[in-house]
Amino acid sequence: MSRYQNVILKGREKAFNKGLCIDCWKDKESNRKEKQRCLSCSTNYNNKLKNKFAERNKENQCWACGNKSTLKNNLNFFSGKKRKWLVCEKCFFKEASKKHLGTQKKWQELKNLLEIQKNKCYISGRKLIIGKNASIDHINPRSLGGKDSIENIAWCDTQINLIKNKLSLKEFYKLCEEVVSNKKIL
Ligand SMILES: [Zn+2]
Ligand SMILES: [Zn+2]
Repeated sequence: MSRYQNVILKGREKAFNKGLCIDCWKDKESNRKEKQRCLSCSTNYNNKLKNKFAERNKENQCWACGNKSTLKNNLNFFSGKKRKWLVCEKCFFKEASKKHLGTQKKWQELKNLLEIQKNKCYISGRKLIIGKNASIDHINPRSLGGKDSIENIAWCDTQINLIKNKLSLKEFYKLCEEVVSNKKIL
């Protein structure tokens, strides 16, 4: 880090500690939701970010790190819809780790878990492709007290995950049985 950057950083820290906007050092009372910037500075900042992401997207780069994104499909790992910005494989795991384990740092564990599962959905056995249908399921759902821990997490086909939703594994199997037995009646 250059001396200049260091001075800026220290200045921002000072402003932040005083409860002022870290860019213009003015009072940021007008913008209570935002922790660091006043309204006009946060608008500027967000626009800059958006432009940066759009620029990266055009060049097939990952929005987060700027490396080339090699994922063929870039679907949101939970909704299954197309993502707004491209992402690289590593940042995909980082996003998943942040979302499901509360920190980006466990991304390697998630990657390993997918390898342990041989890239297959733990419920249906379907082949999982990251950026396409690989999503993470809380085996015991959060809503039933399931924890955000690697032991309570498994890679799951997005479609299966959406149907399982807040069910426990047992309830989900029961649902499947109901569906199949009803099919026999018809
Ligand atoms: Zn400002
Ligand atoms: Zn990346």
